[in-house]
Amino acid sequence: MIPHELVQKVLHTALRNGGDLAEVYLENQEILTLNLDDGKLEKSTQGNDTGGGVRVFYGNMAAYAYTDDLGETALLEAASAAAAASHGASKSRTTIDLTRRQHPVDLSIQKDYDLMPLAEKAALLRQMDAAARGYHSAIRQVRATYNQVRRKVWIYNSDGVWAEDDRNFIEFTAEVVAERDGLLQSIRKGMGGQIGLELMDGRSPIDLAVQAAESAVIMLESRPAPAGETTVVITNGWGGVLFHEACGHALEADFITNGSSAYSGLVGQQVASPLITAIDDGTIPARRGSLRFDDEGTPTQRTVLIENGILKEYMWDLAEARKVGRQSTGNGRRQSYQFMPMPRMTNTFIDRGRHNPQEIISSVKKGIFVKNLGGGQADHASGDFVFSVTEGYMIEDGHITTPVRGATLVGNGPKVLKEIDMVGDDLALDGGYGTCGKLQSAKVSVGQPTVRIPKLTVGGTE
Ligand SMILES: [Zn+2]
Repeated sequence: MIPHELVQKVLHTALRNGGDLAEVYLENQEILTLNLDDGKLEKSTQGNDTGGGVRVFYGNMAAYAYTDDLGETALLEAASAAAAASHGASKSRTTIDLTRRQHPVDLSIQKDYDLMPLAEKAALLRQMDAAARGYHSAIRQVRATYNQVRRKVWIYNSDGVWAEDDRNFIEFTAEVVAERDGLLQSIRKGMGGQIGLELMDGRSPIDLAVQAAESAVIMLESRPAPAGETTVVITNGWGGVLFHEACGHALEADFITNGSSAYSGLVGQQVASPLITAIDDGTIPARRGSLRFDDEGTPTQRTVLIENGILKEYMWDLAEARKVGRQSTGNGRRQSYQFMPMPRMTNTFIDRGRHNPQEIISSVKKGIFVKNLGGGQADHASGDFVFSVTEGYMIEDGHITTPVRGATLVGNGPKVLKEIDMVGDDLALDGGYGTCGKLQSAKVSVGQPTVRIPKLTVGGTE
């Protein structure tokens, strides 16, 4: 992206007031979004957007300056600005020898996005719209989107790190609203990943739109959810968003080092049911949260967070790791060059258990089966959560029966994790359209097998 002599000059400039680590992050991003809303197509593009940031660490403090101009003058100005945060004495620094880091994880894409012309992508959205409306006369609104992102990053630091990553994401979503006698039901589904157009080999966005329509129509037959404490079975795949929000964030190191997390200081202790093993893995091919290197140049890895109920590890970025004198786990991520990195999840999931999912349903005399979760709110540190169930069913005498609407799940993540008493053998990751919003947006995957929570508060409308 820029000559190494300039990178070295920027790093030296950044360190001139006695910083102990300097980092240069460069980024080039191209985004294409097509949005078909009620038959009206909108296109937005962001082409060839480049920028860079310079960060300097002074002990546990860090200063950051960024610029959208990658010329020598602008980069040296950013370096000077970051250096100006300290008035320490200048340390003499010998040469910074940049060594390219390699990572064996394969995130290459097979079919480039340009193989499908823009008009064909737009036509596909129209087919999604038509298929959803054609499914049933009760379909009132359809919103179909296509999103394609190419993001290249270059990371260098004064310890000699030189890492490059080339990230390619696509995503289709379908949001369908069905209506009958004034009752509206909305369902959103998506598919995507860090993958080329081969995403569509054997998986059609048109089917996705039909599935969303099908679920919305089923929900028109729903009755108001009963409120109270009941047994809750949460489906595999996207159901893992609950773990992500209500437990995963509390395992991110910034909440640990500042002591606010429910999991602070508990490594080695039993924090969950022995049936629970939870993992963050940034190396899974084609997954939305995968990276070769995080945004600090650390290779991503598979981190076992909880093993058979015992807390093993948190998710670390460089800044938090430096505070406690340890290594990063490759979880330092940033929304763009305009942001400093922070500890973030990648692909986070509860690992497979040994129960057959059918056996889990059969075990429930009376409860709720959660097939799709919508918007949720969770306190990231404590894990208190409220999630709305967009597609839910009663479980009666071991069978899934009537659809129920208006249900919300209310509880505390760490508490629920101790209480889960059945974990399925049907581990799945989500369809690939999850975006986490911890102050900065980040593409993530979530996942889990079918799980049973023996008792959980369900807010209902009945
Ligand atoms: Zn999140």
